[in-house]
Amino acid sequence: MSNLTKAPQPIAPANPGQAPKIGLVSLGCPKALVDSERIMSTLRSQGYSFSRDYAGADIVLVNTCGFLDSAKQESLEAIGEALNENGRVIVTGCLGVEEELIRKTHPSVLAISGPHQYENVVNAVHEHLPPVPNRFIDLVPEQGLKLTPRHYAYLKISEGCNNRCSFCIIPQIRGDLASRPAAGILGEAEGLIRSGVKELLVISQDTSAYGLDIKYAESNYRGRPVKAKFYDLAKELGQLGAWVRLHYVYPYPHVDAVMELMAEGLVLPYLDIPFQHASPKVLKAMRRPAHQEKTLNRILDWKRQVPDLTVRSNFIVGFPGETEEDFEVMLDFIEEAEIDRAGCFKYEPVTGAPANELDGIVPDDVMQDRFERLMEVAQNVSAGQLAKKVGRTIDVLVDDVDPDNNRVIARSKWDAPEIDGQVIVSDADGIKVGDLVSVTVTDSDEYDLFAVPAKPTN
Ligand code: SF4
Repeated sequence: MSNLTKAPQPIAPANPGQAPKIGLVSLGCPKALVDSERIMSTLRSQGYSFSRDYAGADIVLVNTCGFLDSAKQESLEAIGEALNENGRVIVTGCLGVEEELIRKTHPSVLAISGPHQYENVVNAVHEHLPPVPNRFIDLVPEQGLKLTPRHYAYLKISEGCNNRCSFCIIPQIRGDLASRPAAGILGEAEGLIRSGVKELLVISQDTSAYGLDIKYAESNYRGRPVKAKFYDLAKELGQLGAWVRLHYVYPYPHVDAVMELMAEGLVLPYLDIPFQHASPKVLKAMRRPAHQEKTLNRILDWKRQVPDLTVRSNFIVGFPGETEEDFEVMLDFIEEAEIDRAGCFKYEPVTGAPANELDGIVPDDVMQDRFERLMEVAQNVSAGQLAKKVGRTIDVLVDDVDPDNNRVIARSKWDAPEIDGQVIVSDADGIKVGDLVSVTVTDSDEYDLFAVPAKPTN
């Protein structure tokens, strides 16, 4: 028991003011103490202050120890004391893995999480004692510091990757998949929308694998459990009132279910699927999960269900061993699947990637020729797809204004920022950056649409 901090006193830096106040009881070993410090630092940066006693706290956090039976008992007693003295208690730390025991002993605790689950603890505090943003004293705005324009934001749902593609060293650098709890993502998304974000760009290394590592664990969002699952998260995000764009999705069977969310308008009819190739032989050498025939059928089926679906993808030309025949399989795939937006990279060996050991280096001039041929095919497909939009009235989000030419540069639901095309809107009097406006498409080219503001309908 030498590693147990004896007196379960609330610890807190004094902070006068009207910010919500938290009491913290930190039990256990130095590792638990560091966890407490991390939680305190996060909450402090979000505008919370701390109380030195139970009476002054709006809520009490108990960071528990579960090392020995005696430590468990002491933790349960500390929870009981905090409930008696204050009544509003959130439990975290090692004993948190024994949720049933805690609930049985103290049914009225507000939330329970295990050790190192910083995000869950902070979410539970947000839920039961929401932060009060104060733009005069907060060092960081509610939505955090952002490098994107105010009207769109990237939302990272996980780190790392469980795949082992032979040309990639990301798993070596960032490790295996580590998903965030759904409640944390949804809380962040809400904050972003409150601060003016109108489009959420969901990113990760493998968005469709979201939650696999944490066994799709539920977390508490607005008083109800939400699973850390691709479909569940997409549905919840879709109900927040912003555009939701899904990036880095792989064509796994469970992605089929998201089509219904697109058909209902909850999620944008857009999927960014980094295919990289289409030849089964090259995909195998790349160690990519996907079989070309099934994938083609899946994409065609999705497009039947959601006729507006835009698929953006990246392809690599000149992967070691790629023959002319493999390359042509890829060109056919782009045409048959009508890949609306295709980017292309020439293969580059990355230090440490297993693909460097493969035979069949493709000469530079052949690689360049394939690059140009792929871009030509991609351009033709894109032009054909965009021409079908002429005459339609669509919503666009404005990224930039060009007052000299009385036009604005905007994007449709089919265009992600930076990587896709634009919608150039003429006669754009009074339209501002960040506006969501209705326009009628008048023309198209290989990558962009041209439009004018839609006439109001009576
Ligand atoms: S290419 Fe993407 S899916 Fe493959 S290992 Fe790298 S990060 Fe993972």
